[in-house]
Amino acid sequence: MKIVAHTDRCISSGMCALTAPELFDQDEADGRVVVLPGGRDPGARAAALHAAGLCPAQAIEVRE
Ligand code: SF4
Repeated sequence: MKIVAHTDRCISSGMCALTAPELFDQDEADGRVVVLPGGRDPGARAAALHAAGLCPAQAIEVRE
């Protein structure tokens, strides 16, 4: 699994970091999504998909 964050679409809502703080953080400067190292863990797929579904900007992509 790989999480791809499309930061050009991110509107800094913070939903991903609230929903899956083990996978996502926000950039201190502009609030845009940052994928944490835990985002490479295959076991994190369900949480990643959940966060992707809640993102208001469709900025999170979960790849196999
Ligand atoms: S939920 Fe989406 S729009 Fe909000 S910070 Fe995360 S990636 Fe950006």
